[in-house]
Amino acid sequence: MFLIDLLFPKFCLGCGYIGIYLCQSCQDKLKPIALDTCLYCKKPSLFGLTHPNCTKKLDVDGVLVIYHYNPILKRIIKNIKYRLAVQVWQEFYKIIEPQAVTKLGFYKRLSTDFVIQPIPLSKNKYNERGFNQAKFISVYFQKYLHFLIVDLLIRKKETTSQAQLKNKKTRYLNTRGVFTSLRCPYPNVILVDDVVTSGSTVREAAKTLKRAGAKKVYVLALAKG
Ligand SMILES: [Zn+2]
Ligand SMILES: [Zn+2]
Repeated sequence: MFLIDLLFPKFCLGCGYIGIYLCQSCQDKLKPIALDTCLYCKKPSLFGLTHPNCTKKLDVDGVLVIYHYNPILKRIIKNIKYRLAVQVWQEFYKIIEPQAVTKLGFYKRLSTDFVIQPIPLSKNKYNERGFNQAKFISVYFQKYLHFLIVDLLIRKKETTSQAQLKNKKTRYLNTRGVFTSLRCPYPNVILVDDVVTSGSTVREAAKTLKRAGAKKVYVLALAKG
């Protein structure tokens, strides 16, 4: 047994079962997204690409999400945030790998010169937590994508959790002007986040990156709420 197991005994992130980070019963409750949809009209779209009729210049060009954001995944993501994150995430990634690889393959075929930009936390939030979840996820996706991870986007302020804001207008105001970006010399960017809810955070991030020079901005997320 490793010292780390004594200090931080493993228990299931979903249900608390001892000895494992994610038990079989909880694994079975994870629901991969089989049908990708357009971020704007929510209708089916191949590889989550934004329909030509739904898009404006500064919009997100496509969104790929691996899982539905159900109660089990919600608990898992929350627990990863508060537990010994690196190790737990490594274990979790082994479980999501087959689904993830299929989706990632699309981006690999789409372009060879993508860069990956994790959705950043504000400085205060980062200092408080000590790590950025989206950065972790990016590092694991990078194992298959082999694209450079960049750090161009800066989050000027933290926002109220989007899930708590019910109407569209409040969500928009909540995210407007949240990001700023260094000049982006890369034409193709993949934004990575843990959960996409209304999509207003990634939309604002995409807009900021496009104003800074990016041409196409896609989104890759672990879960969609
Ligand atoms: Zn469990
Ligand atoms: Zn559409």
